[in-house]
Amino acid sequence: LDEKKSFKYIILGGGVAAGYAAKEFTERGLKPEELAIISKEAVAPYERSELSKSYLLPDGYATRLPSFHVCVGSGWKRQLPEWYKEKGIELMLRTEIVKADLASKTLTSATGRVFRYQILIIATGCAAVKLADLGVQGANNADNIFYLREISDADKLVEAIQKKNESGKKAVVIGGGYIGFEVGAALRINGFDVSLVYKEPRLMHQLFTPAIASFYEGYYTNKGVKLFKNTVAIRFESSASNNGEVKKVRLNNGQVIEADIVVVGVGAEPQISIFKGQIKEEKDGIRTDGYFRTSVPDVYAVGDVATFPFKGETIRVEHIDHARESAKQAVIAIKAKEDDNSIAIEVRGFKISEYEYLPCFYSRSFDLSWRFCGDNVGEALPAVEDMRVTSTKPRFVTYWYSRGKVVGAFIEGGNDAENRGFEEIAKRKPRVEKDKLAQDGISFAASQ
Ligand code: FAD
Repeated sequence: LDEKKSFKYIILGGGVAAGYAAKEFTERGLKPEELAIISKEAVAPYERSELSKSYLLPDGYATRLPSFHVCVGSGWKRQLPEWYKEKGIELMLRTEIVKADLASKTLTSATGRVFRYQILIIATGCAAVKLADLGVQGANNADNIFYLREISDADKLVEAIQKKNESGKKAVVIGGGYIGFEVGAALRINGFDVSLVYKEPRLMHQLFTPAIASFYEGYYTNKGVKLFKNTVAIRFESSASNNGEVKKVRLNNGQVIEADIVVVGVGAEPQISIFKGQIKEEKDGIRTDGYFRTSVPDVYAVGDVATFPFKGETIRVEHIDHARESAKQAVIAIKAKEDDNSIAIEVRGFKISEYEYLPCFYSRSFDLSWRFCGDNVGEALPAVEDMRVTSTKPRFVTYWYSRGKVVGAFIEGGNDAENRGFEEIAKRKPRVEKDKLAQDGISFAASQ
């Protein structure tokens, strides 16, 4: 084996978790050539959440790399390719690993290169679920059906948006989750006639209460987005005269929508097939403990692929905050173990605490910006300043109240103090009288 291809640490995957893990390594002591990041993408780790937001806006408003390389998303320094070089980190881009042998501690690339590691961090994230896999007819091989996961996908969509701007401008967006919510808005801003199709009775149904969803649906409708709820696409129809491009989307309720462009956001699945049979899995991901150690010694899994303990259960989370924090926790655990190998995680009497996941999500679309932290269980108590769908600056909160405590909170149009207060609510779950909460309204968040 070529000595140069041997590394003390390899991070497999070059996304959000990889970038934040690299930062943590450098802060905790990293020697040149100890760490390699192997990624099939062509660019250094970046804040993936930008791809469905500013990246899709018209020229003049759109963000482009290098502006959103990690770790700008959490207010740190931007890690450009030169940063990795300076730190002696080998950043191997356009390198897909097709085989992992955890027993011999080797990874093999599509071109046959073999890499050896002492410690592996699996950070391969998710791939978009394809409509053809869900049994939708006509969804294979059409040039105008787009998925959004990596920057190469976003570039294809941007090119199509620019091209279609000169011809047809009808877009059908499938899925009422984050991608549908954000891409639907971005396409509308680009002047498309947008139809948003989702099978649930409301947008972002896992998080939004009926009242919250009703506001956003009203706002989107007011902006000209057409909503098709409680329905799914069952067939895409094309004709030979338009190069096999989809022209019509048929729904299960019998409606047919015309389309020049289709964007699909119907979920994602962890990319862990190369580890099958070698590592313990759970809930579609790789099973880890509170330090992101897997069932295989010296192998860690972080970000979207990790299934980890949470309040007596195990969960898998596809969110950027978790990708950042789990990466940090894994590196802390790796470094702690090295400091004193005889005790797995306890170092010189200092016990590293297990990962404490703090659910916190956000989204931006049109002029809207919302944030949620904590748990959405219990009674939902709204506090409204302006919830008009025509408002230029809507502002409202929903608190989730359970057994005398505020356990979760959602805000539209929050300021920095309120957003920070939200994290405190998620962390401490403050006890408060219901009357006092109603009286304080939105200001309760900032006072935390
Ligand atoms: P990723 O960031 O997906 O990185 C995985 C990396 O592994 C990629 O570089 C991939 O190419 C590489 N890889 C995979 N397999 C291989 C292989 N075999 N060989 C080499 N490389 C490989 N979350 C939020 O909380 N808020 C948001 O607003 C939000 N918006 C989003 C918008 C979009 C368009 C998408 C796609 C996701 C969004 N998310 C959002 C989710 C968030 O981006 C993910 O949770 C996060 O990126 C997970 O980080 P990760 O490092 O685990 O995986």
